[in-house]
Amino acid sequence: MPVESRFLALLGPPMSGKGTQAARLTQLLGIPQISSGDLFRDNIKNQTNLGLEAKKYMDRGDLVPDEVTIGMVKERLHREDCLRGALLDGFPRTIPQAEALDEILVGVDASLAVVISVAVPEDVLVERACGRRICRTCGQSYHLKFGPPKAPGICDEDGGELYQRNDDKPETVRQRLEVYQAQTSPLVEFYRARGILQEVNGDQTIDDVADDIRQAVNEL
Ligand code: AMP
Ligand code: ZN
Repeated sequence: MPVESRFLALLGPPMSGKGTQAARLTQLLGIPQISSGDLFRDNIKNQTNLGLEAKKYMDRGDLVPDEVTIGMVKERLHREDCLRGALLDGFPRTIPQAEALDEILVGVDASLAVVISVAVPEDVLVERACGRRICRTCGQSYHLKFGPPKAPGICDEDGGELYQRNDDKPETVRQRLEVYQAQTSPLVEFYRARGILQEVNGDQTIDDVADDIRQAVNEL
């Protein structure tokens, strides 16, 4: 097992921009981005049993049960490309998931180096929520107001069709914010107590947030 393996996690409410930031950071660090939300969406697209099960919860804005989520992420982290580390995006989201992650990492002789929490005021999140659109082909995300595609409804990268995620509809977004407050926000204190939390202001331009994250990671 390489000594150099490096595991990081990004924590943040829905619409905090953590997916966008994770994609950038992963390029910078040369480790894969492991997004539990993307893994679930891949499973839904491929109509696996896990996908069918997860979709029920996702469409309501609820968390997928821990056993299902932990099993899926564990399997992913054990693949070859994660030997040198990984950037976790959207996992862990509950205390039991955080404890399971510790165990998984002990199993590969590693530990979590840093957790970056992207903080954004709730009213800003709600404003961001409804405008998000995703490319069906490559998963790239756009925002009708803050980062629109060159041509309406069409991905700049590959001409794919843009769509709105079911769970980005207003009622579901509100539910996801409540779930974040109740189940995920306790992780901020959990990791602060461990001394590996770095908090970043997510209410800035994408580039400024990226700069702050880069600094936080370099301070390790
Ligand atoms: P995301 O793309 O990270 O916003 O995740 C979309 C949805 O997938 C969430 O609203 C949850 O329903 C589900 N999900 C993603 N990650 C997790 C997780 N770590 N634990 C439970 N559910 C998750
Ligand atoms: Zn695309």
